Amino acid sequence: MTIRTRYAPSPTGYLHIGGAWMAFFNWLFARSHAGAFVLRVEDTDRSRSSEEYERAIFEDFRWLSIDWEEGPDVGGDYGPYRQTERMALYRASADELLTRGAAYRCFCTPQELEAERIRAQAEKRPYRYSGRCRHLTADQRAAFEREGRRPTIRLRLHDHGETIVVNDLVRGRVEFDPEHLDDYIIVRSDGSPLYNFANVVDDHAMAITHVIRGIEHLSNTPKQWVMYRALGWTPPEVAHLSNILGTDKKKLSKRTGDTAVRDYRREGFLPEALLNFFALMAWYPEENREIYSVPELVARFRVEDLGKASPVFDMDKLTWMNGVYMRTLLERDPGRVVEVCLPALREAGLLDGAPTEAQRAYIRRVIDVLGERLKVGRDIVAYGDFFFKDTVEYELEAARRYLSEPGIVEVLSALRERVAGAATLDPAGAESLVRTLAEERGLQAREIVHPTRVALTGKTAGPGLFELMALLGKDQVTRRLAAAVEYIHRTVGS
Ligand code: GLU
Repeated sequence: MTIRTRYAPSPTGYLHIGGAWMAFFNWLFARSHAGAFVLRVEDTDRSRSSEEYERAIFEDFRWLSIDWEEGPDVGGDYGPYRQTERMALYRASADELLTRGAAYRCFCTPQELEAERIRAQAEKRPYRYSGRCRHLTADQRAAFEREGRRPTIRLRLHDHGETIVVNDLVRGRVEFDPEHLDDYIIVRSDGSPLYNFANVVDDHAMAITHVIRGIEHLSNTPKQWVMYRALGWTPPEVAHLSNILGTDKKKLSKRTGDTAVRDYRREGFLPEALLNFFALMAWYPEENREIYSVPELVARFRVEDLGKASPVFDMDKLTWMNGVYMRTLLERDPGRVVEVCLPALREAGLLDGAPTEAQRAYIRRVIDVLGERLKVGRDIVAYGDFFFKDTVEYELEAARRYLSEPGIVEVLSALRERVAGAATLDPAGAESLVRTLAEERGLQAREIVHPTRVALTGKTAGPGLFELMALLGKDQVTRRLAAAVEYIHRTVGS
């Protein structure tokens, strides 16, 4: 049997972390069995769906290197792959269900249904459709039609009367009491299909063998199972994964990390780090290891190793992991590390458009100087913005602490003269200038290092001073030292 999995996004927004995470497991499972991964667009909610979101979702999958054999853009043997283009199929299945007596037309008006609901509420019982239209005669139906009522189609559920069992690959045997289900609408009065119906028709028609999806769909599964049975089809294997939680142990929210995948891209995360992180949010390999390349994941992934506990989206761990990938990449493909830093630089206004070769080389050197501080692309701005600015903005606290000592003007001025007089400025040269000056003045080296750092970067923390001096170069260093002296005169004078 060829394994076929799918991800079925509704194009009503950007691809979010939770969706990408779910898609990844379907992809991983297909890849680990040399199967096919299908993208199906569930766009029946026409007012909220857009082609722009569809394109954006595909683009984010491409960025993640999650590829698909079949989908609206690439076609395939089981197309079309957008639900709005599959209406004839849904109509045929609805007719089939009606013919078999497994579904019926319901002529109840919204007002009548509302009245039923209110009655149930008053009697303090959970609402279930009464089934009034289950046994309409042909004459009754014709009368309703003459009144101008347009029917919905409902699936007939209760007759089965027996427990519905879902054998979930992650959760094991889950039983559903049919008492809690009612005859649900599968086709609206305007002829459009509802999720539980279209989803079943599509999974069957597309020969999907395995569905890994969110726990919120577990309660839909018995309804879908009844339909598979009514149509004489075999349902796919299913696995329902628990919702990702934020570090506050509540459902992942925007604040705790559930943002669009493209935000992670913009901030300078690497797709391979994100996928590695995704895997460990529900897949628990036996060995104690954290870093897995995607091919390693494909080779090792087993659906039995998926856990049912709610994973926590640990941003610190993701950031750490990204840093590990950044450092490996720096050796193998430094150009990509540069690339990952560009969006953040642009967003901060520190880079305009595409960098020149010289700018690229400079960014590369900044990356080297920042070293392990650079875990995510945006860190280049957080820790190294001053490399890309002509004027230093002093953090208030830093300036107060280090640029107001008596005698500091003299020290900075002396250093400026020495730097100006030096032939070149490499890290060792910068260090010896600072140390010699300290010795001559009877100062500790740090009494020069700290103020100089503030003068050159505006901050109290950051990469090694001598490395950053070398990278800024003689001109920038002398200019910044002079500007700091001027700043001190100005603020002391005021
Ligand atoms: N379009 C549905 C969703 O985004 C798909 C659910 C499913 O995987 O069955 O939730």
